[in-house]
Amino acid sequence: MSQDDQHFEMWWDCPHCHATGLLGLTHRHCPHCGAAQDASRRYFPPEGKEIEAKHHRYVGADWQCGYCGSPNAASAKFCINCSAGQDGSKPVALVHEGAGQSSPRPLAGSGASAGPAATSSAPRARHWPWGWLLGAVLLALLASAITAYLMTRDNEVSLVAKSWERSIAIERLNELRDSDWCDQMPSDAYGVWRSRELRSHRQVADGQTCSNERVDNGDGSFRYQKSCITNYRQEPVYDMRCSYKVLRWRTDRQAVANQLSHPEPTWPAVDLPSRLFQSKKVGTERQGYQTERYMLSLQGQRPQDSWTCTVKQEVWAKLSVGAQLTLPVRLLGGAACERLH
Ligand SMILES: [Zn+2]
Ligand SMILES: [Zn+2]
Repeated sequence: MSQDDQHFEMWWDCPHCHATGLLGLTHRHCPHCGAAQDASRRYFPPEGKEIEAKHHRYVGADWQCGYCGSPNAASAKFCINCSAGQDGSKPVALVHEGAGQSSPRPLAGSGASAGPAATSSAPRARHWPWGWLLGAVLLALLASAITAYLMTRDNEVSLVAKSWERSIAIERLNELRDSDWCDQMPSDAYGVWRSRELRSHRQVADGQTCSNERVDNGDGSFRYQKSCITNYRQEPVYDMRCSYKVLRWRTDRQAVANQLSHPEPTWPAVDLPSRLFQSKKVGTERQGYQTERYMLSLQGQRPQDSWTCTVKQEVWAKLSVGAQLTLPVRLLGGAACERLH
């Protein structure tokens, strides 16, 4: 006879006379006061006090009488307590080990599910209009921000100064030191030095931990069931790490020209070899990206009304110092320099 076929008595407590430790199979009625067994008060016995149910044959979980609530064997046609038939009956609720088994559970009765459903729908109906109100307020704020950005007030200004700036980045070929896993190293790396290092961990299956779990048969008895979980251990994974050197272009400095050196915009002079004659040596220089800016200083009637506008070169070239201009200024967001012409 294997352990799986062995059955043991569940215990239950009588709610009427407070007798405790009654047997699930043997005591279908309380031996002290005669009350019918309450299936919701069944529990697993304390460790070491298990009582084997010899010659017990498991035929299925009990059904709970729809009239008096008594648990009845799956093979019984009529209730042992009140002789009612099986119509309206439910299977008994099973006990799970470790889940507060001593406290009585409420019977899965009719009407229990209607209560929470009815109360939970009411707060939801009260809450949804707030979302709409918040949405409307945000929309109004957004609309007024857009309006304030688009609305402008014209200011009569005079052009008090013109300035410009052109710059060219000078890049230098540098020797950089770096390290990576060797399979991720750049292809032009040189001076490589390799070492073995810890890269990651992998999970390796390492046996099982098994325990005997008690399972409620639902008929006043329980059985033991072996349940196992696989253990894992971490194993280090080593790989080759590469330290290397690599040549990379980096911005070294900026060559700058402005209105202080020349009245008319020109590019700063840089004396560098053309790309054709560049060598791949450390310290070689080349031209990087170039930028240009053209600015106008504008003064309104009041001293605090001063603006600096960055404009396109053709607009900048057309205007001369002392010119009277109309500058649109936004209610929010400053001068609309792009509308100057
Ligand atoms: Zn009793
Ligand atoms: Zn009954």
